[in-house]
Amino acid sequence: MEKEEVLNGIYRCAKCKLCTITSFHPREELFPICPSGEYYGFQAFYAPGRLEILKGILDDDIEESDELLKIIYSCTLCGACYEKCKEITKVDLNFSEIFEEMREIAVEKGWVLDAHKDLIEKIRETHNAYGEVQSRYQRKEGDILYFVGCTSRYREKEISESMIELLDKLNVNFQILEDEWCCGSTLLRIGQVEEAKELIEHNIDEIKRSGAKTIVFTCPGCLMTFKKNYPQLNVELLHSTQFIERLNPNLRLKNLGIGVTYHDPCHLGRHLGIYEEPREILSKIANIKEMKRNREQSWCCGSGGGVRSAFEEFSSWSARERIKEARGVADTLVSACPFCKHNLNDNSDGMKVYDVVELVNRALE
Ligand code: SF4
Ligand code: SF4
Repeated sequence: MEKEEVLNGIYRCAKCKLCTITSFHPREELFPICPSGEYYGFQAFYAPGRLEILKGILDDDIEESDELLKIIYSCTLCGACYEKCKEITKVDLNFSEIFEEMREIAVEKGWVLDAHKDLIEKIRETHNAYGEVQSRYQRKEGDILYFVGCTSRYREKEISESMIELLDKLNVNFQILEDEWCCGSTLLRIGQVEEAKELIEHNIDEIKRSGAKTIVFTCPGCLMTFKKNYPQLNVELLHSTQFIERLNPNLRLKNLGIGVTYHDPCHLGRHLGIYEEPREILSKIANIKEMKRNREQSWCCGSGGGVRSAFEEFSSWSARERIKEARGVADTLVSACPFCKHNLNDNSDGMKVYDVVELVNRALE
C-alpha cells in the first residue's frame, strides 16, 4: 500500500468505536468483537487506536518500546473491525491489510518480537512453523492436490487423516507434495515478507512440477495465502468444504444425531467470504445451532496473526471466551480450520471440538 492510501484510511476514522461491538438490534445485548482491545483494555489495542499508532510510526513520532511492540503484534488480524466499519461507514478500508502493513514497516525498522525471531528460525531450519522433522506422504496421482499445511500435518493430524480417508472412500485420485513447505502465511502475517519468499517460490516450483489442476486445502490460512501470494499459479484453489459441497450429490451421508455449533474461522469467513458451505454440509449430518456472534460478526479464536506464538495468555483467553459462548448453545463445537481447532481444543475445558472434515468422514456411509 502507498503511504497516502494508508493515511487516507487513518483520516477517515471518526473514532466512533462502533467497530468494537456487534451490531445486533439496539434492544439486544451488544457483544465485543475485537479480542485484543477487549483483553488489554486500552484504546491503542482497538482499531481506531491502532490507526493512530500507525500514523505516529509513519510520521516518525514514536520510538520503539515493549508496549509499542505489544500493540503492533497483538492484533489477531481477525478483520471484525473492518467488517463492522464497512457496514457503518460504507468505506472499504481493509484494516487487516493495514495492520499487516504496519508490521511490515515495523520489521523494516528492526522492531521484531523475540518470540517471532524464534518462529522465523524454526521455519528457516525445518520449513514448517513447528520445527518438526518433515513428514512425507506417498500420494502422487491425479489432477487434484491436497495441500496439507503445517498444523494439520504436525499438530491436528486427525484433520489431515480424515481428509485423506474421505478422499480415499470417494475414490478421488489425488496427490500430496512430497516436499511441501510452509505456505508462508505465518511469516506474512507478522510482516516478514522477505522471509516468506523462498517458501513461496519452492511451493510454486513443486506444484508446477506436479501438474495439478486443482488444489484443496483444509487450512483457510494456506488457501488465503495461495490466493493472495501465489499469483503465478494458474490452478483452481478450493477449501475442503467447497470441495465436499461440489461432491455433494454423490455423497451418502448419515446423520450423526449430534447437536453442534459452528465457529467461523476468520480466514475462511471474513477474509474469503466462505460462510455457507460449512453450514450446508453440517446441516446434513448434525443439528446446527448458531452462536450469537456468527458469520461477519464472529468472535476470533485468538490464534491468528502470530498472536498464539507471542501472547499465549491472551490467545487462550480469546479461545475460552468462544468456548463459553459455544457451550451456551451446543455440546460440540465445529470449525473448518486446523489452527482454530488447535487453539479451541487446548482451551476447551472438556468441550468436544472438531473440524468439518472429521465429521464428514465419520458420516460417510
Ligand atoms: S467503526 Fe470505523 S470509523 Fe468508527 S472507530 Fe472503528 S474504524 Fe474508526
Ligand atoms: S483485526 Fe481483530 S483484533 Fe485486530 S483490531 Fe480489528 S477487531 Fe481487533
